[in-house]
Amino acid sequence: MDRKVILVTGGTGLIGRAIQKIIEIEKTENEQWIFVGSKDADLSNFDRTSKLFERHKPTHVIHLAAMVGGLFHNMANNLDFFRKNMQINDNVLAVSFQQGVSKVVSCLSTCIFPDKTTYPIDETMIHNGPPHPSNFGYSYAKRMLDVLNHGYYEQHGKIFTSVIPCNVFGPYDNFDLQNSHVIPGLIRKLHAAVENESPTFVVMGTGKPLRQFIYSLDLARLIIFVLREYNNIEPIIVSVDEEDEISIEDTAKSIAEAFDYNGKIVFDTTKADGQFKKTASNKKIRQLLPPDFKFTNFKEAIKETVQWFKTNQDIARL
Ligand code: NAP
Ligand code: GDP
Repeated sequence: MDRKVILVTGGTGLIGRAIQKIIEIEKTENEQWIFVGSKDADLSNFDRTSKLFERHKPTHVIHLAAMVGGLFHNMANNLDFFRKNMQINDNVLAVSFQQGVSKVVSCLSTCIFPDKTTYPIDETMIHNGPPHPSNFGYSYAKRMLDVLNHGYYEQHGKIFTSVIPCNVFGPYDNFDLQNSHVIPGLIRKLHAAVENESPTFVVMGTGKPLRQFIYSLDLARLIIFVLREYNNIEPIIVSVDEEDEISIEDTAKSIAEAFDYNGKIVFDTTKADGQFKKTASNKKIRQLLPPDFKFTNFKEAIKETVQWFKTNQDIARL
């Protein structure tokens, strides 16, 4: 069997670390995995991207590297999200093509879908209308990945494809207070509230928006599955089931439970809610997966993430 050399860009981030962990458990003989972060090469620079690929000679690429952040980081930096991600994505795909990579799996997100849409969202709807204004820069840059994938297929027959994850959380997430997504942001805040014996835990917005959250280790399994088994350029949603959608309020309650916190949860309604919901259907991947594929129970995954955060203060991104 041909040996695959799989380069994971963004291999030092939340999802990259999760793939590393799963690969440690599920190593196969014919695959060599290489995980790189921004210190290995700034992928917004074409020459550095090219040199990185020359060094590792990948046959396959999982492309995760991106400027990533939660609602408030996006709202403040739409232009930077657009430009940085356009640069990174164009470089990674152009160099992959130039250097003969046979397959690339890039990462979109369910938050790039049209704001005004019917539910559940599916893979055919990406370009149907404008995204939510709060993250238009990130959304349009991600949508252009799908445009690039179609272009490389039409002109050159390349299998450059993409996965569309829902919101992700887990160990090695970004726990920065300004830039993080909701779960790491709330874990960081509640950890401080517990240490300071604060009677209140402040959650931004109304708590009403709904989200589908996938544990990073489950997502890692699905991305590896897509790399090995899915050979179509059309994107594929990698999400928990529609029934697993949960409100921000219930998410905050699960985090409070994981900390054994009995104080009061307070909502700062002066802060933005963002998109109300982006309920996505995972029917396409469910039809391809073994019928016994199970997602980790949400509360269990939250407990594991809280435990990771408590015991890894020295290495956590704060
Ligand atoms: P993350 O934890 O913030 O990690 C980002 C990764 O990208 C890091 O490895 C970082 O390297 C690397 N990176 C950033 N800028 C780079 C540059 N200029 N050159 C080279 N590498 C660069 O992000 P994540 O949550 O794992 O996200 C991975 C992918 O999933 C992204 O494409 C994101 O859009 C997508 N996604 C994420 C979510 C979510 O909820 N987190 C949901 C849907 C889709 P350093 O570690 O060296 O900084
Ligand atoms: P989104 O799913 O792309 O909107 O990104 P986030 O992960 O940032 O989730 C945003 C939702 O969580 C919004 O409804 C916010 O109002 C709510 N939220 C509550 N507290 C926080 C927080 O501390 N940080 C973030 N990022 N969002 C929060």
